[in-house]
Amino acid sequence: MATLLYDADADIELIRHKRIAIIGYGSQGHAHALNLRDSGCEVLIGLPEISRSRLKAEKDGWSPLLPHEAAARADCIMLLVPDQYQGQVYTESIKDTLSAGKILLVAHGFSLQYGQIVPPADVDVAMVAPNGPGVQLRQMYQAGSGIPALWTVYQDITGQARALTISYARALGCTRAGIIQTTLAEETETDLFAEQVVLCGGLTSLIRSAFETLVEAGYQPEVAYTCCLQEVKLIADLLYKGGIHFMHNSISDTAEFGDYVTGPRIIGEQSREQMRNVLHEIQTGTFARNWILENQAGRPTLQAMRRKDAAHQIETVGKQMRDLLP
Ligand code: NDP
Repeated sequence: MATLLYDADADIELIRHKRIAIIGYGSQGHAHALNLRDSGCEVLIGLPEISRSRLKAEKDGWSPLLPHEAAARADCIMLLVPDQYQGQVYTESIKDTLSAGKILLVAHGFSLQYGQIVPPADVDVAMVAPNGPGVQLRQMYQAGSGIPALWTVYQDITGQARALTISYARALGCTRAGIIQTTLAEETETDLFAEQVVLCGGLTSLIRSAFETLVEAGYQPEVAYTCCLQEVKLIADLLYKGGIHFMHNSISDTAEFGDYVTGPRIIGEQSREQMRNVLHEIQTGTFARNWILENQAGRPTLQAMRRKDAAHQIETVGKQMRDLLP
């Protein structure tokens, strides 16, 4: 059974006595910075000279420094730039500012797990990975609650890394909901697997294939869009609230029977075999290597797929339907 920690397990004073550099001010960066500030912490923001996020940070009352300036002045450095750029940002702006006694934090294990960042042996390194986008992290904090997070300590040189990491999670508001200890490998591999197989890749392929099947068979695209995509939210809300059995209890008996007899035909042994292959590619670093090389090549595949994605019929039909049925 996973161990959950809450507010009572965390000493918030530990992080209040550190100066924290938040590098990046995007989805996670803005929420970490604002929650930490509201929790009584001293925060510096690190952004490049030319950055779309600078204006947003300034509007929120910050005076952003350059990443290496913020990192040099901080005891605790949280790296919140996109995973594919973390290796470069670390090498150019963070590495030389690290010295014994400092702690380097990440919110996802990708760059440490796949060797994009190799921290020096004399600094503490840890992860606090909130289970949700920054906007939710911020909103829940402001509402007096929080979202859960996964955490782990990768290197504890000072003997303080565990307590400080938990203290950071408390200042984010995450210990209000509960934080779960993990490992870098577990967080990275399960996160990549879930987004590829279920949350993003699996779900969108399922929706598109079902939509195309109905349209090919002569049904109206608008009707296909509504039943294959729009209604996903209704089912997702039920799953979120109470799990699969609860969802089954909330839908019609016809839908429930169809679920039992048809679901395993759609996701059968062939799909499971592919899931194992995908997991293997994640575990062996094959996916990470492809993604890193893709970025080094200027993202040709991502750009091509984005164009194809945007041109799909489900997008035009979806826009019309959302305008008609707000
Ligand atoms: P975003 O893309 O939302 O934001 C990235 C930020 O980094 C932007 O402010 C961007 O500035 C800035 N940035 C880009 N390049 C540099 C640079 N060279 N130096 C300094 N800053 C730079 O990223 P996320 O917040 O989504 O992701 C940050 C981390 O959080 C990742 O490790 C991610 O895996 C993790 N995470 C994300 C979650 C999410 O739901 N988004 C959930 C949990 C973890 P600019 O505006 O100029 O591009």
